[in-house]
Amino acid sequence: MNLLISNGRVVDPSQNLDRAADVLIEDGLVAKIGPGLKAPKGVATIDAAGCIVIPGLVDLHTHLREPGQEHKETIRTGTEAAVAGGYTSVCAMANTTPPNDERPVTEMIVAEAQRNGVCRVYPIGAVSKGLAGLELSEMADLRGAGCVAFSDDGKPVTNSKLMRAALEYARMLGAPVIAHEEDAFLAEGAVMHEGYYSTLLGMKGAPAAGEEILTSRDIHLVELTGGRLHVAHLSTVGAIEAVRRAKSRGLAVTCEATPHHIALTDEAVQSFSTDLKMNPPLRSEAHRRALLEAIKDGTIDVIATDHAPHHPDEKRVEFDLAPFGVIGLETAFAVCHEVLVKSKTIKLAQLVDLMSTRPARTFNLPGGTLKPGSAGDVAVIDLDGATEFASFRSRSHNSPWRGRTLGTRVVATVVGGVVRFDGRPSPAVEGKSRPQAARARGARR
Ligand SMILES: [Zn+2]
Repeated sequence: MNLLISNGRVVDPSQNLDRAADVLIEDGLVAKIGPGLKAPKGVATIDAAGCIVIPGLVDLHTHLREPGQEHKETIRTGTEAAVAGGYTSVCAMANTTPPNDERPVTEMIVAEAQRNGVCRVYPIGAVSKGLAGLELSEMADLRGAGCVAFSDDGKPVTNSKLMRAALEYARMLGAPVIAHEEDAFLAEGAVMHEGYYSTLLGMKGAPAAGEEILTSRDIHLVELTGGRLHVAHLSTVGAIEAVRRAKSRGLAVTCEATPHHIALTDEAVQSFSTDLKMNPPLRSEAHRRALLEAIKDGTIDVIATDHAPHHPDEKRVEFDLAPFGVIGLETAFAVCHEVLVKSKTIKLAQLVDLMSTRPARTFNLPGGTLKPGSAGDVAVIDLDGATEFASFRSRSHNSPWRGRTLGTRVVATVVGGVVRFDGRPSPAVEGKSRPQAARARGARR
């Protein structure tokens, strides 16, 4: 629980900090930041020379698949993927089997995360019983058991009256509703974005209008109820415009974008790789450009992964038949750094803000800051390093970046002062295999 991270470049947007400094963690909390800190006797040290030291990343949109779909992912493997990507907290979506629509399911997730998780896990409760969109779940019960937000993500809440009630209850419970915005009728049978490439490829597309219609509806419902709305995986010009307008009017609306929508377009779908099939689909370049603009001007609050593991057998089928979703926890920082920071679209501190500080604030979670007294959750990342994504910690490998090498490397991820991912080379225990080396280092600590 005690650790000194020395010689790094500390980048913490919550304190407007970007300078060489050491970070001392005591009893799981950040104790001190400053130059030349000495490790108290017996306290382990991470030498972060040449690396950035940032508050651990916080993902508001993760599908951990447990309970019920452990062939895709478990709380153990999903959180291992998270720390490998620099994440120290993930919010677990409700569309498990059974869905997280009742207290015992939430309690099971919380207990399993305590037992076998390697980062913080915050459950998200279902809006409707069985995700069926007919009847509200026991929202107060779910909140009491530890749910931090409510969502039927994976599908939209089609019934406007139900969405109204969800926003009203969530407001009383002090939690946001996360909306998967899609007009289910317009998107029926769609496997990609409706546009030039869907016509070219002869595949059924989902028009951008479907996302825009529901986003606008829910903003109207926020106005009606005074509830808090968080729009998941925003991907279209019109939906961005709707959120921008809502914010300018002071409504309680926040939103997120995913690394894949920021980095890729529907042009890539010509390869027919099922690792490019997700929902919302990859949109056209004009939509992607609008996302970049919205990131620059602050309309997009948060980058969230929508990490959605599927077993290789499920993805190894024709494009039309494959399930929607790609994994993202391990690649998110590297992808966003390349597309947003290396391209000079935004500054590094803004990226840390989008991936750590603002997600934590948006759902009122611990972390997202290195202020003394806050959670000792830290990521140490080498911006000049490289990671080859030949394999993944996730149980699934449905990533658009599988086999690619991207130019950053997570050196260490620390959760509550405990090193949960250690990517450092270890000369002291040379000759042993990496896992053995990791264990040997762990034993010394
Ligand atoms: Zn979704």
